[in-house]
Amino acid sequence: MEFTLEEMRTHLAALEARISSACKIAGRSRESVKLVWVSKFHPAEAVENAISLGATDFGENRVQEAELKFSTPRTALDGSRVRCHVIGPVQSNKLKKAAVVADCIHSIASIEAVEKLEKVCAALPGENGAGKILDILFQVNAGEEETKSGLDVHEAETFLNGLAARGETAFPHLRFRGLMTIGKNTGVAEDSRECFAFLRNLQQKFLAKGGIFANFDQLSMGMTGDLEVAIEEGSTMIRVGTALFGERDYSKPVNDPV
Ligand SMILES: *Cc1c(COP(=O)(O)O)cnc(C)c1O
Repeated sequence: MEFTLEEMRTHLAALEARISSACKIAGRSRESVKLVWVSKFHPAEAVENAISLGATDFGENRVQEAELKFSTPRTALDGSRVRCHVIGPVQSNKLKKAAVVADCIHSIASIEAVEKLEKVCAALPGENGAGKILDILFQVNAGEEETKSGLDVHEAETFLNGLAARGETAFPHLRFRGLMTIGKNTGVAEDSRECFAFLRNLQQKFLAKGGIFANFDQLSMGMTGDLEVAIEEGSTMIRVGTALFGERDYSKPVNDPV
């Protein structure tokens, strides 16, 4: 069963208490951490409820589902346009659709995907008809689990250096914003601290280089189970599903993939 609006309000309050407490411990401001509401497997009505509670940013891990819920522009309570983040791996043939629906893609992990997105975004109208500017984060498999996608920890630095070697004008329609990772998911949040710290060090190192990394100031890490540790380690975007929307019912996909 989906949460009612009132249930969602209660869960949001509890989550905000967790975020505030973690920010306080870390000596950070609440504003320095963006809450991305992960609405995957939840219906459009849940998204409407979230917007009425002040949500501005949503995360979806499948392009088709993102299109279903976020193709129509929506306005958030604060008057801004609701933003869609694609947070799951995107197949090459879905990159164009992802670029159309998303404001930010968190899960890029190959030079081929970067090149394709540049081409695709150059051909989209964007806000002034001169192409769409898309925010990109690189996913790093810092948890080092075989089942997870993302750049290998040992190759991430080489990959980023290779990207910079293309020159500052190679990707005019892409804004490289930072790094994303999924924690260890062991059930023990502390287990993710090391990989979150690794990600922060890598992000800071490349932000300091400037050039194509001048906007590399984002760290997308932390989910329902480990967001406090992620905030302590510098996360700027936490991706939260379960704590806001409740358990996902995987037996009833929101859209039929067939
Ligand atoms: C589903 C998902 C989340 C949200 O996870 P919760 O544990 O429900 O908060 C965050 N990030 C990614 C990449 C996901 O696929």
